[in-house]
Amino acid sequence: MTDIAANLAVLRARIAAAALAAGRRSEDVALVAVSKTHDAAAIAAAIAAGQRRFGENRMQEALAKYPALKARRPDLELHLIGPLQTNKVKEAVALFDVIETLDRPKLAEALLRERARQQRLPALFIQVNTGEEPQKAGVLPEVADGFIAQCRGLGLVIAGLMCIPPVDEAPAQHFALLREIARRNGISGLSMGMSADFEIAIRFGATHIRVGTAIFGARAPDPGA
Ligand SMILES: *Cc1c(COP(=O)(O)O)cnc(C)c1O
Repeated sequence: MTDIAANLAVLRARIAAAALAAGRRSEDVALVAVSKTHDAAAIAAAIAAGQRRFGENRMQEALAKYPALKARRPDLELHLIGPLQTNKVKEAVALFDVIETLDRPKLAEALLRERARQQRLPALFIQVNTGEEPQKAGVLPEVADGFIAQCRGLGLVIAGLMCIPPVDEAPAQHFALLREIARRNGISGLSMGMSADFEIAIRFGATHIRVGTAIFGARAPDPGA
């Protein structure tokens, strides 16, 4: 049995140390606990240990795990960190507090329509495919400025940028690129860094780190991956 409370305590200490080393305040680094594949008991253990911000990458799984929990615990903040299909926008807008994976005009337009219907809209991060990997979601770096402008032109507020660096490359150059795109567009949020590299991400200005394994333990292999 993974000791989630102990893992969280260790993680918080590492975040504080990384922030200190970077001359930043640890309060400015938000921890998104990635609970994908983990059950209600694991999430409850994290909540009991004081964690309030969670991330899921699949709509189906998030819809199975979170609506009842969020109804009981309005202080939870739920982030969508995986791809969003336009036919799931209605449910995503109703459930999530932050959508980190906006990456195409059609999705921006669907979000606008849903905002009008539900009179609510999660905070939006644009996913940037910094490694230009064909299989990965996100806008390419060279069209990021244009897409950000397009979203703003439609009336959307862009709270941040998000990236998932290629597994086989040093993450620092990707974090630096994301930071630069955010800087020149006047965007304050930077979601970058996972279990293996969050300390580097904090050094490069991450405002949100997305950590699963270091909190909940190893995941079973993903049959859909
Ligand atoms: C699974 C996942 C994470 C967390 O990864 P860990 O290595 O388990 O910390 C972060 N971001 C995204 C987009 C993910 O899908």
